[in-house]
Amino acid sequence: MAVRDVQNYINGQFVASTSPRQLDVHNPATGEVIGRVPLSTAADIDTAVQAGKRAFDSWRRTPPVKRAQHLYKFKFLLEEHFEDLAKSITTEHGKTLDEARGSLRRGIECVEVAIGIPTLMKGEALEDAGPNIDVMAMRRPLGVFAAITPFNFPVMVPLWFMPFAVATGNTFVLKPSEQVPMSMQLVFELLEKCDFPAGVVNMVNGQKEAVDAILTHPDIKGVSFVGSSPVAHYIYETAAKNGKRVQALGGAKNFLVVMPDADMDKTVDAVVESCYGCAGERCLAGSVVLAVGKAHEVLRERILETTKKIRVGNGLEPNVTMGPVISAKHKERVLSYIQKGIDEGANLLLDGREIGKKDSGYFIGPTVFADVDPSMVIAREEIFGPVICIARVDSLEEATKIVEGHPLGNTTSIFTSSGKAARDFQYNVAVSMVGVNIGVPAPMAYFGFGGARGSFFGDTKAHGQESLNFYTDKRVIINRWFS
Ligand code: NAD
Repeated sequence: MAVRDVQNYINGQFVASTSPRQLDVHNPATGEVIGRVPLSTAADIDTAVQAGKRAFDSWRRTPPVKRAQHLYKFKFLLEEHFEDLAKSITTEHGKTLDEARGSLRRGIECVEVAIGIPTLMKGEALEDAGPNIDVMAMRRPLGVFAAITPFNFPVMVPLWFMPFAVATGNTFVLKPSEQVPMSMQLVFELLEKCDFPAGVVNMVNGQKEAVDAILTHPDIKGVSFVGSSPVAHYIYETAAKNGKRVQALGGAKNFLVVMPDADMDKTVDAVVESCYGCAGERCLAGSVVLAVGKAHEVLRERILETTKKIRVGNGLEPNVTMGPVISAKHKERVLSYIQKGIDEGANLLLDGREIGKKDSGYFIGPTVFADVDPSMVIAREEIFGPVICIARVDSLEEATKIVEGHPLGNTTSIFTSSGKAARDFQYNVAVSMVGVNIGVPAPMAYFGFGGARGSFFGDTKAHGQESLNFYTDKRVIINRWFS
């Protein structure tokens, strides 16, 4: 397979970075090098921002219905190249083809929602607010926005931002994850065919130097970030200190509460899918099951039984249901958590360490710990791998206390057939995305996406109507005409 040199996309053209420094990009299922990504410099970021700045004035004056035409074309091309994109996502990330397709569908939904911009962006007006006084509030774009994205959704997460940023009349610079830069090359090849004026959409690849240049650039108005919590916190502080709007989505440790009255067949399937889907590398992945009372015995057996049916392998192969983790380094990290769980005295029901020992890919088998104490490190820290922890609790109140006592608050779910239990739980947890009998409660493109506590730093969340507040200033104009 040819190794592809990843390029930047600036001012309507694919261009090389000014830096000779590069990193290898690997296929996690084989360990093969499939590409080389440049570590772009502050100068590359500046070139992209200047292009965005030049394009802004006429782009913001373009009627929203005309801006949406470019996104229609983009949506059409994404559909036309759907399978190629899904294959590319699987090849650089490792998730199965079905998972890649699912994430791409979610990304396309963001484009579809952003196409509604003429309606979404409409303001408010009030006649006769005072004598001869009419008031209106109109949304205005601000300038150049940037987004910095993680490895686990190579296309979907960039599409949480780009369509809304440009639909509202801003211009945009993306810094994708250096671990998965290949699929966005394909996406930008499609964007190139959408006739956006030069400079409206830009992409600069790289790592910390590129990120720091974004955070401090005087002409960037706002920064979106998705990634781990320590970096999210750093992004929030640094960008805010530099006068920017910031939305920084961080890491997660998600609890799934199962009541004894839950429909166990459906619950077990949902729990196993939540924990092992995308090899556990999802910010909405469940990782700790809080089994209330009698639910514990049933769940131990049934989760184990269902988990044993997972088929680990190269996600491009048709019968595989779980792919590898992203890198050799991350594999070591996940393995060290499994060892930690054993050392802490959790009961290892299924050991995933044997799978992949001889492979060149970064495979780990699904791993099940039972009799986990919620104070253990494996139940507190984000593992971001195929490891499930089952803990017994005595009551819903105890489960709620554990969820609420955790410093992260991205998502949580309850499984029950009791309306009262579901209502009490969703009311009492201050977590931002809550599921009732849903394993992965991912808000649709027309709702906001983002967590609480240490999982989110900022005010306005990603995508949907909410992102309009991030991407625009709602100016109030007060008119008086003397009669
Ligand atoms: P990461 O924080 O390592 O990297 C994210 C981005 O930040 C990348 O583009 C990377 O180049 C950049 N970066 C990394 N270290 C940096 C530093 N020190 N300074 C400046 N920039 C830096 O995250 P990841 O490993 O790519 O992604 C996995 C994490 O993302 C998990 O913690 C997961 O929970 C989280 N995540 C959260 C959400 C959400 O919606 N809250 C969604 C997806 C992923």
